[in-house]
Amino acid sequence: MGFLDYAPAPESRGILTLKDAYGLFIDGEFVDGTGGTFTTISPADESPIAEIALGSDADVDAAVAAARRAHTKVWGKMSGRDRGKYLFRIARLVQERARELAVAESLDNGKPIKESRDVDVPLVAAWFFYYAGWADKLDYAGLGADPRAHGVAGQIIPWNFPLLMLAWKLAPALAAGNTVVLKPAETTPLTALIFAEILQQADLPAGVVNIVTGAGATGAALVRHPDVDKVAFTGSTAVGREIARTVAGTGKSVTLELGGKAANIVFDDAPIDQAIEGIVNGIFFNQGHVCCAGSRLLVQESIHDEVIDRLKTRLSTLRLGDPLDKNTDIGAINSAEQLERIRMLTAVGEQEGAQRWTAECAIPDKGFWFAPTVFTRVEASHRIAREEVFGPVLSVLTFRTPAEAIAKANNTPYGLSAGIWSDKGSRILAVADKLRAGVVWANTFNRFDPSSPFGGYKESGYGREGGRHGLTAYLKPALAAPKAATPIARRTRKEVTR
Ligand code: ADP
Repeated sequence: MGFLDYAPAPESRGILTLKDAYGLFIDGEFVDGTGGTFTTISPADESPIAEIALGSDADVDAAVAAARRAHTKVWGKMSGRDRGKYLFRIARLVQERARELAVAESLDNGKPIKESRDVDVPLVAAWFFYYAGWADKLDYAGLGADPRAHGVAGQIIPWNFPLLMLAWKLAPALAAGNTVVLKPAETTPLTALIFAEILQQADLPAGVVNIVTGAGATGAALVRHPDVDKVAFTGSTAVGREIARTVAGTGKSVTLELGGKAANIVFDDAPIDQAIEGIVNGIFFNQGHVCCAGSRLLVQESIHDEVIDRLKTRLSTLRLGDPLDKNTDIGAINSAEQLERIRMLTAVGEQEGAQRWTAECAIPDKGFWFAPTVFTRVEASHRIAREEVFGPVLSVLTFRTPAEAIAKANNTPYGLSAGIWSDKGSRILAVADKLRAGVVWANTFNRFDPSSPFGGYKESGYGREGGRHGLTAYLKPALAAPKAATPIARRTRKEVTR
């Protein structure tokens, strides 16, 4: 270790009491599944963490049946005020067990403890607090008086924010009066299972939330189950397409939150120091395993060299390594499979003629790692400019005018998020207005708040999560008033919207 290097500052794992094996959480109890087991490992050193049940079709069926009973007998009848109390209780228990959840998340996912502790887990609590507040106010959500829950929601989540995605899914569903069967991702089931213990601690009635671990086949069984009324999915566009095909024509309601290839646009009048931090946060936060990551940097030509120089200097200071070390900025890639995909796409980037730069940093011997990488001279046709790498890899493109920036930003099959860096408020508003992206950040990036809706255009999916809009997905609109005799075109706008 050199002079002024950081000493290791590992967070203690002592706070975690893990079981060797976890069953499925069905009807309020942990039960053995009938589909065998798999091992969840730590991506930082490939060591096993616990044995996890692999949910079979029969297990999914049992979970859906439990959710249906709980909906009919308990949760669907309970007042919103009482549902809200449970959600508040869950939120407080998450806060109480925050450190334990953060350690488990970093262990299973590979993300730096700094992030799980300061971002993921606090947002999980915030999401439950926020939707707890809606539970008794659904009549005021703008969906008509007395809107009704769908019934049983089947929810499938990815591995990049395991507990946070659970919260995004569960909190609005429960607030709206649905019961749930949730399937966590196969590489990151741990925090969902600890969360199941929290539900027991909160005395949540049995069957209101069921957690069925497993891989794609378990998810597919949940999606096609005839007694699931609503499907919510976050994950890849390919799987999203398959889910859309499966539910087509079944009457199931569906929301999909899929991939992204966000443009982070830096104008020449941007506050450069903040912009550099924003670029780093935009793509290197959570190892770039972020669907709304700012993976395409669009920088105005006149400041390109300065921005890239400063960016490289900044990236050279990032510390890659043990996710449980409080000084770590870049943790482990979540799985061998994901690492392979990042390697493949970056190799293609070089072959296609982009110029690669990789931060110099020591890579641990074991585990899955990828050093922060920047590609310059990227062209819009390159695969690294079009496809989601889902890793710590930035593609840099340039532009000369705002119109060119907008055209390039929108030149993607996705449309989840975007960022604009400029000193001029009027320019920010004018550009934001023309970006085909669900979320546009101005002079910041990757900011989340439970009151703010999130979701995409085009291949990034449909539906919104978060805010009042996030409730829409979990409520049937109130029955429409009897049809007016006047043709719709002749009615006033006010009448139509009412
Ligand atoms: P990622 O690229 O993030 O791994 P996936 O879309 O493969 O995204 O996975 C997201 C979630 O979807 C995971 O929980 C995974 O197990 C689940 N999944 C994968 N295939 C299917 C499928 N055919 N039907 C339903 N869920 C699936």
